[in-house]
Amino acid sequence: MAVGVFDLFSIGIGPSSSHTVGPMRAAAVFAEELKASGDLEKVASLRVDLYGSLAATGHGHGTMTAILLGLEGFHPEQILPEEVEDRLATIAETGTLQLAGAVALPYGVKDMVLRPLTILPRHTNGMTFTVADAAGETLHQATFFSVGGGFIVREGEEDAALKELAESKKELPLPFRTAAELLGRCQSKGLSIGEIMLVNERASRTEAEIRAGLLHIYSVMEGCVEVSLKRTGLLPGGLKVRRRAPDWHERLMKETLDQDPDFRDPKYWQEWVNLIALAVNEENASGGRVVTAPTNGAAGIIPAVLYYALHFAPGMDQATQADRDDTIVKFLLTAGAIGVLYKEQASISGAEVGCQGEVGSASSMAAAGLAEVMGGTPQQVENAAEIAMEHNLGLTCDPIGGLVQVPCIERNAIAAAKAINAAKMALWGDGTHRVSLDEVIVTMRETGKDMSSKYKETAMGGLAVNVVEC
Ligand code: SF4
Repeated sequence: MAVGVFDLFSIGIGPSSSHTVGPMRAAAVFAEELKASGDLEKVASLRVDLYGSLAATGHGHGTMTAILLGLEGFHPEQILPEEVEDRLATIAETGTLQLAGAVALPYGVKDMVLRPLTILPRHTNGMTFTVADAAGETLHQATFFSVGGGFIVREGEEDAALKELAESKKELPLPFRTAAELLGRCQSKGLSIGEIMLVNERASRTEAEIRAGLLHIYSVMEGCVEVSLKRTGLLPGGLKVRRRAPDWHERLMKETLDQDPDFRDPKYWQEWVNLIALAVNEENASGGRVVTAPTNGAAGIIPAVLYYALHFAPGMDQATQADRDDTIVKFLLTAGAIGVLYKEQASISGAEVGCQGEVGSASSMAAAGLAEVMGGTPQQVENAAEIAMEHNLGLTCDPIGGLVQVPCIERNAIAAAKAINAAKMALWGDGTHRVSLDEVIVTMRETGKDMSSKYKETAMGGLAVNVVEC
């Protein structure tokens, strides 16, 4: 299947798309296959091997617990946050999981085999599931890779997946792999970037379904903020990071009521953008329901910039509900088109290319979405995406304690501001610029390749080793 907007914006749980959502999905696929094979009842033992980055930062990212839930048959897009807590408490209490929801098996987080120094050839986020019968004979075994953004690939099927991707792209009415091709399509068809994406999405859904689906995605983003603003206290994991969004919200509401708008800080919008980014990422860090956009570590950037588009962009104070819905749909389609370019030519996985692939890609996608809804031409939109990534190049991934909290939460707020600035800079130009988006995407990919593995979601370098955990 060609990568579409609903692959880039999917509903999942925190804190990480590559370390939580992907592993849960892989474990659920393994459990389903086992059930379908008819061997489920014969299973007497289970073994889970985690490699590379999954083993190095899995504890902080909730990888192991996500796998337990997947093995029970839960999928990240369906499981409710309360079910997560309930099932994990039961597994911890009884020391037993329900394999594929049907066979009780003594198994827990402590039984998983961690191999942080073993990197499988396809990707650093590797995992192998093996089940055996009472005689110790292997019944079923499969290795998967979580390649970023919740996407999974099975070992041995990489070529088939690539072939399938190429085939499905042929079926798209307006396929594109690079920004140059995308701009070429815009020019030849007289369409915007968001409209090109819409034409392609219509190959698999009706326009009404696409619209309803994207509005639902935004409603989940809003719901995530709403829940987060009600939760106080420390985030889980032992870093003692305090949730700040509820206090900030209270303060902003007070300022909104007390201050004369004429004497307000002209950068008032900035506080709201920061608030939304923090709220989403605090909820993500606590394992709550979020939209992967395009990853969970970077999940706050697109909601924050879209919030800006809906509340502070010129003319939006007069907007009807239909105008607001149009803005949401157009923004997400355009951001999705830019996300496709990163998936196609580079990576959105922090374990593969560092944080530039997660926060950088999200910032670039958000900048493009904002430029488009503010009336940018395709060239200005491409320029906005390029500026946002250019100034995130080299960004490393070094989460303290392997938790998606520091630097991740604040980094989303900063990257949202960069996206808004990038869109405004592009809109003040005429779309011509020196560095193309394709050049910057290739640079991101090559920089990621050269980056030491210490800085690629292993918590072995940067802030992760220079800040004392307490
Ligand atoms: S530093 Fe960036 S890539 Fe790494 S976990 Fe945090 S948000 Fe994700």
